[in-house]
Amino acid sequence: MLVREVTEVLDGWFDPDWAEPWDAVGLVCGDPDEVVRRVLLAVDAVPATVAEALALGAQLLVTHHPLLLTGVHGVAAGEPKGALVHRMIRGGAAHLVIHTNADVASPGVSDALADALGLNGCEPLDPQRQPPMSKLVVFVPQQDADGLIDALAAAGAGAIGDYDRCAWSTAGTGTFRPLSGAHPAIGAIGRTEQVAETRVEMVVPAGRQAAVVAALRAAHPYEEPAFDLLVQQPLTGHRGTGRVGELPSVTTLRDFTAHAARVLPRTAWGVRAAGDPDRPVRTVAVCGGSGASLVEQARAAGADAFLTADLKHHLVVEAVTERGDGLALVDAAHWATEAPWLDALAERLRTRFGTTVDVHVSRAVTDPWTVHVRPDDVPPGAQ
Ligand SMILES: [Zn+2]
Repeated sequence: MLVREVTEVLDGWFDPDWAEPWDAVGLVCGDPDEVVRRVLLAVDAVPATVAEALALGAQLLVTHHPLLLTGVHGVAAGEPKGALVHRMIRGGAAHLVIHTNADVASPGVSDALADALGLNGCEPLDPQRQPPMSKLVVFVPQQDADGLIDALAAAGAGAIGDYDRCAWSTAGTGTFRPLSGAHPAIGAIGRTEQVAETRVEMVVPAGRQAAVVAALRAAHPYEEPAFDLLVQQPLTGHRGTGRVGELPSVTTLRDFTAHAARVLPRTAWGVRAAGDPDRPVRTVAVCGGSGASLVEQARAAGADAFLTADLKHHLVVEAVTERGDGLALVDAAHWATEAPWLDALAERLRTRFGTTVDVHVSRAVTDPWTVHVRPDDVPPGAQ
């Protein structure tokens, strides 16, 4: 496999166009035409994971977090990030970032987190709205209907999921009277005409309206084809940030927090919770990484608890202590909420590439917190 072939598959699963505008996804370094026999997956591109990739002989390091998120003017080896770029290029390893395009994907980062916690029936917590489609309704003489459907489909109408040329038709009667100056395909000036027509309905994806209407005018036998282009309501899709689902049975916040600490990759940070420890928990919202901005969505989704990372003091005071309406917040280590996705991605890559590409998951804990002392851990008199 070539780097480009692997990245094309990953781009299909995690379209770079889904990434946030501020994000920096894609190939950071590496030659798309180099051969890939081994891949290492990691959350962070840091000295430990770069060294691991090179020691493994991996030709591709895939990380969730960008190495160069903010604009850079150079990658001099004297700078920490530049040094990593140099190390990867010298060691023959390409580096690919799949970040917020993996957060919104389905399956994506939060699906793996929800799976690790045992949540069922997950839906996106912040669903992405799909661009609204239009519905084209056009009336055409019955013998011309198939040809018109072909022409509209070629212009992009009637594409639904893995199907194309989708259309629905009914037979009816059209009537009109050509006036002076008209050049009717059927009938004569001044005479009321009745024609056996077919009403054809096809969806038109956003952005294809102009091309489809142009194709309609070109392919329709009438001088003045009758048609409607109706804008549909935008629907929420299966993609989006965060997930909300149900635990198999009701538990308490205390036990759910312990459960999370048990099933998520171990870190010094551990897992902590804000809220009544005895609060019943069944509906759980999750967001891999920094999900503080989704607290209100979690509340609106009816979550008993929202597990994410990087929750700040004032936000927790306002969302839990002041509101007092029951939503509990569970704060896990940022890395631990995203690391489960690596195993899910590795499984998918192995299924796709078989033995052609050897896929490894880094076990390096790259969460930056390394020491966590609870008061109970300090022996009496240690002060
Ligand atoms: Zn993250």
